[in-house]
Amino acid sequence: MPARTGKQYLAGLREQPREVWFRGERVKDVTTHPGLARGATAIASLYDQQCDPRYRARMTFTSPKSGDPLGLSFIIPRTREDLENRRVMMLNWARTTCGMMGRSPDFMNVHFAAWAGAADYFGHDKPEYGENMRRYYDYISENDLVLTHSLINLQRSRTVSGMFNLEEGTALQAVKETSAGVIVKGARVLATLGPFADEIAVYSPRLGRHTESHSPFALNFSIPCATPGLKFLCRDSFDYGQSHFDHPLGSRFEEMDCVVFFDDVLVPWDRVFIYGDVDRLNEAPNITSTSSHTAHQGAAKNLAKCELVLGVALLMSETLGNAHLPHTQERIGELMMYTELMRACIRAGEADAKLNEWGVMTPASLPVETTRNLFMTAYPKMAEIIQLLGSSSLMILPTEADFQSPMAPHIEQYLATEGSNARDRVKLFHLAWDIACSSFGQRQVLYERFFASDPLTRARALASTYPKQELKDRVLEFLNRDDHIS
Ligand SMILES: Cc1cc2nc3c(=O)[nH]c(=O)nc-3n(C[C@H](O)[C@H](O)[C@H](O)COP(=O)(O)OP(=O)(O)OC[C@H]3O[C@@H](n4cnc5c(N)ncnc54)[C@H](O)[C@@H]3O)c2cc1C
Repeated sequence: MPARTGKQYLAGLREQPREVWFRGERVKDVTTHPGLARGATAIASLYDQQCDPRYRARMTFTSPKSGDPLGLSFIIPRTREDLENRRVMMLNWARTTCGMMGRSPDFMNVHFAAWAGAADYFGHDKPEYGENMRRYYDYISENDLVLTHSLINLQRSRTVSGMFNLEEGTALQAVKETSAGVIVKGARVLATLGPFADEIAVYSPRLGRHTESHSPFALNFSIPCATPGLKFLCRDSFDYGQSHFDHPLGSRFEEMDCVVFFDDVLVPWDRVFIYGDVDRLNEAPNITSTSSHTAHQGAAKNLAKCELVLGVALLMSETLGNAHLPHTQERIGELMMYTELMRACIRAGEADAKLNEWGVMTPASLPVETTRNLFMTAYPKMAEIIQLLGSSSLMILPTEADFQSPMAPHIEQYLATEGSNARDRVKLFHLAWDIACSSFGQRQVLYERFFASDPLTRARALASTYPKQELKDRVLEFLNRDDHIS
């Protein structure tokens, strides 16, 4: 099947009813549920872009297998141009969602493209696992499927196994092998996009602290979200059913986060990519370069988010008439730096890209990883800057209905500024509020702080790969320089 339309994507969700729980009830249809439907529609709109004749050439590539146009984020990049084209595609999607759907399908697509390119890694000791990976990639890319993923075990106690709690009875583990596959049991967090995905991928983060050489916790597999025994438990929705005017982001881009319970779930053998082999699991992200590829996707999302926040800040200062004030300029200057850093790191990552040992063109890791680490502190700061620039204007927010009410003349008269009429001002500041104050906005801050693991872990990961010797040598050379004036 060529790249899907939004309609085909939504039909796919309806055909595979998964067990999604929301506010104490099982959701019958995620595509029509009031707390979820508009999130599904937002993903559908991304799929529509792929099939829109105006964008298709930029959004798809020709499958070497079927000759069909496939979503470009599925491409296994072989050249720098492939990487650049893929980034243009991902940036298009990210701009469509204002960078507010971090788990848009391209995140997992680039992941599996890198893994399929490195399929021999999975087949090293077990050739069938390598074949599984190749076949699975063909399946998801040719059918244009959406994946969610859940990497983290729930933590009952922090005294067991350090950061990655591998506690029997809580963490996800294999409990039985059958001729059909492996039976797994346990819970994982978080499956963002869970209700809107066709498949769920389960593996471990780069720094999974498995210590034994063989472990029932060491798992890498993917299964349909509709697999019996799989249960998605949603948090409350941040789409309150309000209009786009009142709640511009939350009413559109609710991607939902779920805890996932695996109740004796069968993972068929042909969906197993790693099983038991701790070293292979731990080393997969680095050796297969998925870290760099997902950071490249994340960098495009970050850039879109920076562009949105900066654009909003510029309009806010024009509307309030404070653009000339030094503290406004300083804050907006900071937003400009973040934006340009993202852009520069994406470019550096692509310009210094190299073929990895599997022949996959891979973005240079340091610049793209820098975007990921920096955003953990930069994005909360960006949201804070919107608060500082907005002040009480972020609370002067009559709703769309107020503009139709007897209060309208007062609103129109008193809320206008020299730079804006009242309606445009309020509309803009609803957006600023949704970035920096609403629960949707605060979830974005939390997302950026933690979606890629906690900041300490990421800092250590960066430090472990950073080339340090040359810098130390240069300092030592300086200290030993014999250039004193006699
Ligand atoms: C909005 C959102 C969406 C997410 N989406 C996904 C997803 O789609 N898929 C997925 O797999 N995961 C997802 N995650 C989960 C993410 O991977 C984890 O949140 C992340 O790995 C951090 O783990 P944790 O939440 O258990 O934090 P914890 O490990 O509990 O850390 C909490 C805090 O404690 C600190 N801390 C931890 N250990 C120590 C220690 N030993 N000493 C001192 N301080 C410590 C950390 O630095 C951090 O500040 C998402 C998270 C969020 C917030």
